[in-house]
Amino acid sequence: MKVCLNQVDESPAMTCPRCPTVGTALIFLSVVHVSAGLKCVCQLCANHTCETGPDGACWNSVMLIDGKEEAVKSCLSPSEMRGQVFCYGSRNVSKRSCCFTDFCNNETLHLHTGRVERPARSPGWGWLELVAVTLVPTSLVCVGVLLWVYTQHGQHCVYRKALANTTEDPLDNQSLMSPDKSLKDLIFDMSTSGSGSGLPLLVQRTIARTIVLQEIIGKGRFGEVWRGRWRGEDVAVKIFSSRDERSWFREAEIYQTIMLRHENILGFIAADNKDNGSWTQLWLVSEYHEHGSMFDYLNRYTVSVDGMVVLAVSVASGLAHLHMEIIGTQGKPAIAHRDLKSKNILVKRNGSAVIADLGLAVKHDSLTNTIDIPANHRVGTKRYMAPEILDDTINTGNFESFKRADIYSLGLVFWEVARRCTVSGICEDYQLPYYDVVPSDPSVEDMRKVVCDQKLRPNIPNQWQSCEALRVMGKIMRECWYTNAAARLTALRIKKTVSQSFAKDVKE
Ligand code: ADP
Ligand code: MG
Repeated sequence: MKVCLNQVDESPAMTCPRCPTVGTALIFLSVVHVSAGLKCVCQLCANHTCETGPDGACWNSVMLIDGKEEAVKSCLSPSEMRGQVFCYGSRNVSKRSCCFTDFCNNETLHLHTGRVERPARSPGWGWLELVAVTLVPTSLVCVGVLLWVYTQHGQHCVYRKALANTTEDPLDNQSLMSPDKSLKDLIFDMSTSGSGSGLPLLVQRTIARTIVLQEIIGKGRFGEVWRGRWRGEDVAVKIFSSRDERSWFREAEIYQTIMLRHENILGFIAADNKDNGSWTQLWLVSEYHEHGSMFDYLNRYTVSVDGMVVLAVSVASGLAHLHMEIIGTQGKPAIAHRDLKSKNILVKRNGSAVIADLGLAVKHDSLTNTIDIPANHRVGTKRYMAPEILDDTINTGNFESFKRADIYSLGLVFWEVARRCTVSGICEDYQLPYYDVVPSDPSVEDMRKVVCDQKLRPNIPNQWQSCEALRVMGKIMRECWYTNAAARLTALRIKKTVSQSFAKDVKE
């Protein structure tokens, strides 16, 4: 049996996704949608200022990193205040505080000493304002807790949730510091803490800064991916160069979309930006998968029918979750990937797959029917681009268009997998889609001629008809590749159809 090591590294057409214009601070990751509200000090934001939403807060924190106190000041959005633990302090390890007047976080916190420096008069941080705030009944309760916590424990948090919840939050930094906490525990704590988005930012920073890098495991658009160790466990660290800061910011932001976590989407752990004086290190930390990408896996191994079905169902499930809008306060927006390919899918130890590299993804706001970043339509990897992207006829005003383009790419990924499926001892060598009709780093024009003008699609071998699962896979591929994007299957339909074919295969 021939195994083809055809490692063609194709880069996406555009290197920079459309990202927030100010992508400078980790701490700013989840507050990009805020409208006018409080003004706060944010040392890593443009003009050192950020604005919160109507119910947001100014945030001030200090934590001990490598024996040095590091302060972070920023804005908190209402959702962060609801779901996470930003306003908690944890005695000697970190202090965090939230306050509710303009620039009230313009002070430097210190650990241990309880000392507070006020470098300049904090605009708006006066008793008058506090009194004004206490006139609002809900704020009255909050300020009461602020004063109580401040005097009793040297902390001054007025996080409303703290009122209702007197027990320590499971994600408190002290419990993080306890050496028996594994990544799994932390992620479990996070998913049960109700935030549904990501670990608290200081926890992310603490994890990132205690990882020991081991070896390079991949290279892509943006620098390198490393295997690292954290508390005896492997993690993957994607390191962006500082000129790709916007891409780092964007990817971290997408991964922290509320309710995105899913068994078939790469498990995000942390983002960190560390300024060492001369340059900024930008890290994205995720779960590590030793098999690497599906591209590497299929090059190395063939798969059984079961193995093919597990891979196909898991990728379709991940994509169905990404594409699905979940309505409600703990809901998630529909997301399109826009760079789906075998190199952006990872294979887990159990043979299932996770979708990775969400750097080009776009979110849909169904209320306003808009996407969250300006539609720069020709992004992704040329070889995997849908015909409507290649010939520029895609209707970017309709979010469904982006999902349908993903489905076309999914069909190509299925073709790569199905070729490696061994039935009666026979399978094909590994090949990239369109390997036989375009050069190794095809241009958009090369692809357009083949896919749009000649309407060619990858070949579906006759022998696939002899196995139910392969026959179904072939049929699905064709229904993913229609030139008419509206006629393509949905990810959910594909997931169900492949699973059913497997059930039939088992019966036969
Ligand atoms: P880029 O945005 O630069 O394309 P990717 O996220 O696609 O970066 O990662 C590049 C490559 O690094 C992948 O194709 C894969 O081989 C490897 N890789 C990335 N993340 C992981 C991970 N979590 N576990 C194992 N390998 C990974
Ligand atoms: Mg990639």
